[in-house]
Amino acid sequence: MPEKALNLLDPLNSLKGIGPSRNDTLIQAGISTIQDLINYYPRKYLDRTNIIPIGSVKNNSQVNIVGKIEAAGLVKGRKRQFFKAILSDKSGMITLTWFNGARYINKLIKTGDRLAVSGKVEFYNKLQIVHPEYDQLNTKEDPLNSGIIMSLYPIPGVLRKNRIDSLFFRKIIRKIYGELREIPDFFQEDFRKKYNIISLDKALREIHFPHSNTSLDKAIKRLKFNEHFFFQLQISSRRKLAKKLPTAPLKKTGIQTKMIYNNINFELTNAQKRVLKEIKDDLSKPYAMDRLLQGDVGSGKTILAILAASIAVSNNSQVAIMAPTEILSNQHYKAFKKLADLGKMSCAQLIGGMPNKDRKKIISGLESGKIDIVVGTHALIQKDVIFNSLGLVIVDEQHRFGVNQRISLAQKGVNPHSLTMTATPIPRTLAITYHGDMDLSIIDELPKDRIPITTKTVNKDRLEKIYSFMIDEMNSGRQCIIVYPLVEESEKSDLTAAIEMYKNLSKNIFKKMKVGLLHGRLEKDEKDEIMKDFSNNKINLLISTTVIEVGIDVPNATVMLVEHAERFGLTQLHQLRGRVGRGNKKSYCILVQRKKTENSKKRLQIMESTNDGFVISDEDLKLRGPGEYFGIKQSGFFNFKIANIVTDGNLINQVRNAVFGEFNFNLTTLQSRNKIVYNELMYLYGDKIEKSLSMR
Ligand code: ADP
Ligand code: MG
Repeated sequence: MPEKALNLLDPLNSLKGIGPSRNDTLIQAGISTIQDLINYYPRKYLDRTNIIPIGSVKNNSQVNIVGKIEAAGLVKGRKRQFFKAILSDKSGMITLTWFNGARYINKLIKTGDRLAVSGKVEFYNKLQIVHPEYDQLNTKEDPLNSGIIMSLYPIPGVLRKNRIDSLFFRKIIRKIYGELREIPDFFQEDFRKKYNIISLDKALREIHFPHSNTSLDKAIKRLKFNEHFFFQLQISSRRKLAKKLPTAPLKKTGIQTKMIYNNINFELTNAQKRVLKEIKDDLSKPYAMDRLLQGDVGSGKTILAILAASIAVSNNSQVAIMAPTEILSNQHYKAFKKLADLGKMSCAQLIGGMPNKDRKKIISGLESGKIDIVVGTHALIQKDVIFNSLGLVIVDEQHRFGVNQRISLAQKGVNPHSLTMTATPIPRTLAITYHGDMDLSIIDELPKDRIPITTKTVNKDRLEKIYSFMIDEMNSGRQCIIVYPLVEESEKSDLTAAIEMYKNLSKNIFKKMKVGLLHGRLEKDEKDEIMKDFSNNKINLLISTTVIEVGIDVPNATVMLVEHAERFGLTQLHQLRGRVGRGNKKSYCILVQRKKTENSKKRLQIMESTNDGFVISDEDLKLRGPGEYFGIKQSGFFNFKIANIVTDGNLINQVRNAVFGEFNFNLTTLQSRNKIVYNELMYLYGDKIEKSLSMR
């Protein structure tokens, strides 16, 4: 043992073997202390169970192999040089080929090197792997013959350029562990026992040098637990702070609410009743509600929003409802206006591009308090929109807005209550992580009169039959919708395609029908006109781009045909499908698949197999990952290193129990009772906690 043990916070250049150049490179990769280094987890592991003999690799399979480079060098190609190496073991040999970066790889891989290689085997004259992932191995490290489990690390370009590879990490970390005292744990032993997790010290050693797959699993569990724990703790602290935002309680339910409640021509579902109670309870408290209402398309969120609004107005507060598109805003306005009149509330709409005179009138009505409820789009967050007493903010399809937009609207009142709604059911694990600082309400029940929609994927050969089926439907008074995708890069040509198709269909197959065309380039008046005609059954067939996605509620529409369905995401298809089946007539969703890929086939099959938005969102999340799912890839929201919110559902529930149970105290008490947990929380999330305070 050296005289002086290492400390976690020591810089890396205090280690032998790390000179200034490597030290700089590692810092660039975000690794500057010993603590950073041992928290740099392997990306995968090699052992006897997942390495196969080179002689047995098969074309088209994904393999891990280990061998020696027999020959390597640049080869002249037709256009440019490429790099080729022959890797062999006792059982056979295989070619590794690099077309890109050939000269660079030529400097890194030499005859005699031992490599661990992963990639897909292809046949091109002979079996080979093109652009494989590879790691240099030390001659002494042999995952095949020694029975060790070998760690492979993420090696981004900055590291590779300075010849920092997995071998380097294994060597340096092994050396550190020889000199490092036991790593202090956040959690006491009885806590660890209760949640069945191993000590931090053990986990951090095993994650780099696992003794067995079982002990590796335990290490992974402990480290995942850490990440979920501090994430949830951060959420719970933010939640605690938010719960303290004082606001005017909206306790009374006046004549406004009663008039509406007694005049709706259906009975609320049990789920709607439950959620209404949750909202009412929140509104009556002197702290601002922050509630997310999830409910599948057609589950009846709007009526709850209206009832909530009526409670606010009963208490002399104003209400703002913000929707992401004009069409959706129009629809809400229509729904709100009708019931607002019943409840003797004044309701106005504010959207972009209104005549100045009308806009001025609404703005002054909001400022004086004459208008109780305003429905609108982003136009609501403009500077000169001032409220007399904004008590409740409702945001529909919240994922279409940025956090800042929602906050801008809320800032027009004094900590107003907030209800956000989404028709994109969010898988539970995501909801409690991503939206964990809000309260959740879920409408998990459709109104009784709904008949499930039948969904069918077809190719274009079947179109003629389907068109004639649509004609039958229209002849018996129903309405149909055809949707064309708009893809951003080629928006123009796609639009042309939709217009062409409209011309063609309306002149030929559907010439006896009234056909309307709806797309984003139309003037607002034109759009409104078409939507109105479709609502009033003056248009039998609506051909549309995806502008129709949210917001049309025409219970008489029974067929939704989606062209190029493979271009849409699952959630979007589910949204589109939700435009039909809103009444009490049997409805159909036809997905026309023009191009077949493995992934699209799978997606369309899922659509055929279920109408349950929660199942669909789960699948969507699995297929696309959480970043894509929320369109927040860049935001760094999920910067977990080892935790996975898609697959860690059970663990997340355990962690939540721990956080909201044992650690359910506020920041000040946490600081005094468990300093080490407090410090780690501040280190990881301190800025977020502060930011969420200052945003309010
Ligand atoms: P979404 O949740 O998609 O916003 P809406 O609020 O637009 O759904 O409701 C869809 C349709 O269902 C509307 O026409 C609405 O009037 C109707 N609706 C809502 N709740 C019920 C219910 N409990 N019973 C029958 N119809 C209902
Ligand atoms: Mg809605």
